[in-house]
This record gives sequence, C-alpha cells and structure tokens, in this order.
Amino acid sequence: MIAEVIKANDLTKADPVFGQASFNDHEQIVFCHDKDTGLKAIIGIHNTVLGPALGGTRMWKYANEWEALNDVLRLSRGMTYKSAISGLNLGGGKAVIIGDAKADKTPEMMTRFGQFIHSLSGKYITAEDVGTTTPDMDIIREVTPYVTGISEAKGGSGNPSPVTAYGVYMGMKAAAMHQFGTDKLDGKKVLVQGTGHVGETLINYLTQEGAVVYVTDINEAKMQDVAGKYGAHVYTGEDIYSADVDIYAPCALGATVNDETIQRLKAKVIAGAANNQLANEEVHGKLLQEKGILYAPDFLINAGGIINVYAEIVGYDKAEAIKRTENIYNTTLEIFHFAEANGLTTQQAAMSVAQKRVDDRKKEMAK
Ligand code: NAD
Repeated sequence: MIAEVIKANDLTKADPVFGQASFNDHEQIVFCHDKDTGLKAIIGIHNTVLGPALGGTRMWKYANEWEALNDVLRLSRGMTYKSAISGLNLGGGKAVIIGDAKADKTPEMMTRFGQFIHSLSGKYITAEDVGTTTPDMDIIREVTPYVTGISEAKGGSGNPSPVTAYGVYMGMKAAAMHQFGTDKLDGKKVLVQGTGHVGETLINYLTQEGAVVYVTDINEAKMQDVAGKYGAHVYTGEDIYSADVDIYAPCALGATVNDETIQRLKAKVIAGAANNQLANEEVHGKLLQEKGILYAPDFLINAGGIINVYAEIVGYDKAEAIKRTENIYNTTLEIFHFAEANGLTTQQAAMSVAQKRVDDRKKEMAK
C-alpha cells in the first residue's frame, strides 16, 4: 500500500520530511543509526498532548527509505487517534526498523534501539508490532523502562492479541446491533480474512456464539488448522470480497476496502482488526455509507491491544483492561449515533471525537 501511495504522489520529489503526504504536523521524527549493529530506525512522534507517545516498533523489509518514513508517519498519526478515542492518556507514536526481521534482527540491534528510545526520556514508549516480539521487548527493557508488552514472567502484560480480538468482537457486536437490530451473532455469516494472532481468537469467539464463520488466509496450513480447531469453514469462492456474508472482518492487511473491492462487497457490516482498512479514508468511508455498509472504524475497535499495554504504565490489572476493552461496544454504538446525527461517515465521526479530546486537552493546558 505504501508503495502505491508513494507512486501516486511521487513523494520522492516532495520535501524530504515535512513535505511528505503522510506528514501531519508530527512533533518529532528521530532517525536512529548504528553502524556496528546495522540498525536503521525511524521513531515518529505524532502528538504528545494526551500523554507520552506510545506505539509499537515494526521491523519490515521496506523497498526504500521513503516507504519506511511514510509508514512511520502514517502509523504514528493513527496511534494518536486510537488512544484518544479509547480514553487513554497517551499520545501517538510508532517506530520502524528497516530490515528483514528474520534475517537481520539481533539482540545487539534491539539493545542499541532500546538506547535510542531511552535517549528520548519517555516521550516515546515502544511495544511490539509486525516483525518484533515479546522477547525483543524484554531485551529493550534491559536498557530502558520506556517499553511495554514485556513478558508476563517479567511483570508485563504479554501478548496483546487476545485482548485486541476481544475488542474487535465487541465492536462487531455493536455494529450488528446498529445494522441488524440485534447484537446476537448466532446464525450470522462472517468472513474472517486472516487467521493469525487476532483472527484466530476472534474466530473462537464467533463460533462459540454460533456464527457461521468462513476463513481465508494465504497461509494454507494455518487456515486449515484454525478452521478445523473451531469448526469454521474455509472459504472456497473465487472472490472473497463478493462473498455472500453478513459481516466482513479484515484481520490481515490494510487497504482492503478500496476502489476495486468496494463495488463487490455484499456484507452489510465491516468490522475487523487490520489497521487502515480504508485505502482512502474520505473517499471509501463515503462510498460505504452510500452503499449502506456499516463500517466500524478500525482504530476504534482494534484498540484492545493498546488498552492492555496501557495497564503496564498505569498499573491496573488484566480484569480492568478487559473491562475497558469491553467498553468498545458502547463507544462504537455512540460513534454510530454521532455519525448519523451529524451526517458524517463513521470514520469521520470517530476521527472528530478523537480530535476533540486532543484539542480540549490542549486548551486546558494553555489555561
Ligand atoms: P498476524 O501476522 O498474526 O496475522 C495476520 C494473518 O494474515 C497471517 O496469518 C497472514 O498469513 C494473513 N494474511 C496476510 N496477507 C493475507 C492476505 N492477502 N489474505 C489473507 N490472509 C493474509 O497479525 P495479527 O497480530 O493477527 O494482526 C492482524 C491485523 O490486525 C494486522 O493488520 C495488525 O496490524 C492488526 N492489529 C493487530 C493488533 C494485535 O494486537 N496483534 C492490534 C491492532 C491491530
């Protein structure tokens, strides 16, 4: 997706940082380099009005530095809105490490990266993301306290994915309530795209409730395994987007709701875990609204993971994290009502509620 954004906007001709399409008044962007370990990382601090900028570190084999920069700008902005709408006192940040997590990552590189995080004195707090793991966070913890998602054995909150899945489940139920008049999912046909960490737990919740679940994944073995384990059906149709289902749950990649797929969608609800599901927030949010498809904003319903790691900072327990995640149900319903009352798309409504919280705090601070 990032490659497409760069191509469409010819970003290599724009000013290197502040001129990038994904630059959104970010407060600070830190480039980290260490020749000895091969570390090349970028930390994006989008906004710290509500609190320290918390967001995971993604390690990815970016095709070039433009891709890495735009990814960190886009992802860190998303974190500001995710934490704001979830009522957390956290700002938005994210980091990317350029490289192949399987081939290039070493404990020494993680240690060096942790030292860079430490040099920011807590303005940025990291966590795991694609290409980084709980053991990586444990290594970073050796050199800085500004890391979350460390292992439970070391006093952390561990893998956030099950809590993320619970939040997505809550958001999906709220969407069903709004769209179908009931939040009961038994008998509802749900297509889950991606049977990974979040997808698998979500599928478990859905099949337990009696939903008819279809699954798809590019990892054939994983897909078969998960389908068998929870009594889900492997989707065998030609085109997953035109599947005859009630709910489409993207739990793999971003940008799956785009010009090409949107016309084919038969589902009446979109509710899933993937970040940045709408290829273009404005255009595709509006198109979904016109087609009568209810979109549960991704950054709202996939916030269980950040709610879980926030517990490590403020010291509340797992039960409290689950309770707060459950509240995604209420917040999602409120956003749907707010969108309707104000003639907004659900994406616009969620963004504006999140932005208002940041703006209000800024005004309070200026007093
Ligand atoms: P994961 O890597 O464990 O699982 C993703 C799955 O999607 C994998 O099984 C992969 O094979 C599959 N996949 C990749 N491309 C696909 C395609 N084209 N079609 C079908 N399947 C495909 O990731 P995860 O932790 O389960 O996260 C899923 C999504 O949710 C990601 O987009 C992630 O950014 C987002 N998310 C995760 C969390 C969390 O707590 N893990 C929190 C917020 C958002």
